[in-house]
Amino acid sequence: MARIYIPAPLRAYANDERAVDIEGATVEEALAGLVRKHPAIEKHLFGETGKLRQFVNIYRNEEDIRYLDREKTALDPADEISIVPSVAGGTGGDACLPSALSPKEITRYGRHLTLPEFGMAGQRKLKASSVLVVGAGGLGSPLALYLAAAGVGKIGLADYDVVDESNLQRQILYGTKDVGRKKLEAARETIRDANPFVEVETFDAALTSENALDIFSGFDLVADGTDNFPTRYLVNDACVMLGIPNAYASVFRFEGQASVFGAPDGPCYRCLYEEPPPPGLVPSCAEGGVLGVLPGLAGVVQAAEAIKMLTGVGEPLVGRLLLIDALGMRFRELRVRRNPACPVCGDHPSQTELIDYQAFCGIPTQPNGHAMTQQASLPEITVRELKDRIDQGNRPFILDVRKPQEYDIANLGGTLIPLDELPDRLDELADRKQEDIVVHCRSGGRSSQAVQLMRAHGFEHASNLKGGVLAWSDEIDPSLPKY
Ligand SMILES: [Zn+2]
Repeated sequence: MARIYIPAPLRAYANDERAVDIEGATVEEALAGLVRKHPAIEKHLFGETGKLRQFVNIYRNEEDIRYLDREKTALDPADEISIVPSVAGGTGGDACLPSALSPKEITRYGRHLTLPEFGMAGQRKLKASSVLVVGAGGLGSPLALYLAAAGVGKIGLADYDVVDESNLQRQILYGTKDVGRKKLEAARETIRDANPFVEVETFDAALTSENALDIFSGFDLVADGTDNFPTRYLVNDACVMLGIPNAYASVFRFEGQASVFGAPDGPCYRCLYEEPPPPGLVPSCAEGGVLGVLPGLAGVVQAAEAIKMLTGVGEPLVGRLLLIDALGMRFRELRVRRNPACPVCGDHPSQTELIDYQAFCGIPTQPNGHAMTQQASLPEITVRELKDRIDQGNRPFILDVRKPQEYDIANLGGTLIPLDELPDRLDELADRKQEDIVVHCRSGGRSSQAVQLMRAHGFEHASNLKGGVLAWSDEIDPSLPKY
């Protein structure tokens, strides 16, 4: 028994079935079986002479049968046959439904309206629905733009950041003129320009356990475009508790993931990753880098999943984790099962309220609940203090714990030992244990870990440069490039 996948344009001739299981030892036999089952499909697949039509390609698993034994290609029971016709555009739509769209909207959404699977009904569902985009950054940019262009009625945006020049490599909601502006302000303008029919609601705040449920409720779907673990777990848990599906993606360097969590009977992010990695193990995109188009790719997957979930069209990524490898340009998918013992979405959830996600992710917090960027007990030096010392001829030993490629972009002339190599290379610094050492990275996070490690190994005069290279560029030397 081989499975034949029926493409969208031919489904109308196959009883609207997406896939049919057919007996057959060869592709030819299986296609003959398909025609016996659905005779109406025959003239779309085969010409007058009984030959496969030129514009219909048949694949056995990943291979085009033209490069195998053509119609005589042998089939195993586990094989899958895909019929891949060339698709030039839509066909006539269902124009007789009573319309809630204005003539201008009908013109604008014409290419949706003529999609048989989508049509007027799908477009009206989109218009009536709302999506909250959490994080208006690399993922949030293509997401919000495509959702707006597609005609989602209301788009919520939660972000509190300001546009930085280093965002423009991937955050296509913003242009050069927007550097220094609030992201929400610039994003609203771009979205309203893309589609003035869309309502934009903005939330100028960091998402917290206190405000998440309020912000989320009222939206039909949440799209998680965050870049940190505490917010990702918070988004997941809040979605599960409110019963709102979550179109998820994350990116790092050249790789991305996407899925849909929190759908009825589907898994949640906690079913996939019950606990976050320890802080510092997985570097942020600021530290590790990200190929600019990759969040574009993953964000567009999120937008597609959101539109499918909202309209009920197609097969969403529920229970499947899509892995994107942009370097090899390979897409793989893994199955994700709902875990009946999941603490949040399981049969007997142990966690029914939002928690302290900074603490959950092992990030120390101040009494007011805000994450601390530095260990309170860690000695720090400001860039101004360091500059004064250098000017007075009292230069301390400067240790840079970033990556070599970061050092090439901008450096303070320090000695380079990347944080992940530091534990094995501490002996290189052994004769400096009594010396003043100033440790720095890009913004002060990695260097605070390095200082902790060094002080635990007897470097009693190691201190952290507050704000790192970024602060040096801001306050001391603006010619030092920021990245
Ligand atoms: Zn779960």
